[in-house]
Amino acid sequence: MTQNTPPALGASMKDKLIQQARERRLREASGSTAAPATHTLQDAVAVPAQHYRFDLHPGYQQLQLMRQGAERMGLSSPFFKLHDQLADAETSIGGARYINYASYNYLGYSGHPEVAAAAKAAIDRYGTSVSASRAVSGERPLHRELEQALAQLYEVDDAVTFVSGHATNVTSIGYLFGPRDLIVHDELIHNSVLQGIQLSGARRLSFPHNDSQALDRLLSEQRGQFERVLVVLEGIYSMDGDYPDLPKFVELKRRHKVFLMVDEAHSLGVMGATGKGIREHFGLAGDDVDMWMGTLSKTLSSCGGYIAGESALVEHLRFLAPGFLYSVGMPPAAAAASLAALRLLPQWGERVAALQARGQQFLQLARAAGLDTATSTGLAVIPVITGSSLKATLLSAALFRRGINAQPILYPAVPEKAARVRFFMSCQHTQEQIADTVRIVAEELALL
Ligand code: PMP
Repeated sequence: MTQNTPPALGASMKDKLIQQARERRLREASGSTAAPATHTLQDAVAVPAQHYRFDLHPGYQQLQLMRQGAERMGLSSPFFKLHDQLADAETSIGGARYINYASYNYLGYSGHPEVAAAAKAAIDRYGTSVSASRAVSGERPLHRELEQALAQLYEVDDAVTFVSGHATNVTSIGYLFGPRDLIVHDELIHNSVLQGIQLSGARRLSFPHNDSQALDRLLSEQRGQFERVLVVLEGIYSMDGDYPDLPKFVELKRRHKVFLMVDEAHSLGVMGATGKGIREHFGLAGDDVDMWMGTLSKTLSSCGGYIAGESALVEHLRFLAPGFLYSVGMPPAAAAASLAALRLLPQWGERVAALQARGQQFLQLARAAGLDTATSTGLAVIPVITGSSLKATLLSAALFRRGINAQPILYPAVPEKAARVRFFMSCQHTQEQIADTVRIVAEELALL
């Protein structure tokens, strides 16, 4: 197998490509860039305009409708705001200061001097890119050091890193499972897992949020009909800020002989006394979960994702997962930043305690003010449910006017009745900022 060999082409695709190449050669020979005079059978078919124009794509049309609706109500878009500098517990947008709840810089290591220095030193030594796949173009010591540090964190054999957290789920699930397999996931699982399942061709079933009994019943009925079965959970759910009773799922995994995967995007650095995640929170062993997945973009202050687990899994992914094999290795600066944040782990405790305390403070004050925080446990993510996408947009805009940056989450990302403004905690928020924020949220919500 070589880097540039595309996957096997179907016969009709090959014919089409050959035909296109012939037509191109004819055009070049005649010095014309226009379409060839000799029409193929396909050209004669009437094709509706929406099938060859992006401006008529249903997704784009829906986007335009939403824009027009917002304009009619005089609302500016809450998306793609331009931050002038580091966005942590505070940020600057358009030259004005805001208390910021729209960043995942949970432990404040993005912007930390040691993390920044490590990234800069990596650029000086290795350049800004490793240019190609690590398999063919070679590794830098940082790649393996980061993976070994991640394996140590989980007390498992090994880990492999990818250039994106989203791509980690897509390519790992997409590669490891196939049409004879079943993948079962919590109904609130992240989009990247759903995309991976779609790519794998496996049968997909979901179970009600955090309901291990429902999963038990589902596996009792379905397990025998499939070869491999994967169950996917999140450490902390990114929309709701709650978490699964993981030991119960570990018991199910062993009894039904299925694989268990946990996405720790929002739980690493957030759960457990020292921030080691949901495993530490429940006192579990590394091998209680088959695939520990996480992103490097949040607590680990960089960009990328990882899978940690047994050698047979990690080695396998490193050689065969398309998103690793056919994609560039992590840029040196990104690997170095995450490695530096991970090496600061012995000092995480104080930041973790502050993050957990600020989250509890927010949750208690919000409940006392009569705000609907749904099932949030106050860890990392706290939603304030508004009951409609319009109210969520209006609340977010009102908060912005009062110096608070928090994003609305609208239908279809969540059901319309569960539309919300979502607050991400940081260990760097002060008690005063949290108290002010909850008071202002309650005031503004009452005005809607
Ligand atoms: N998994 C979960 C649960 C996430 O919330 C996210 C993104 N927020 C990802 C995976 C993808 O990670 P990244 O943004 O680092 O690509």
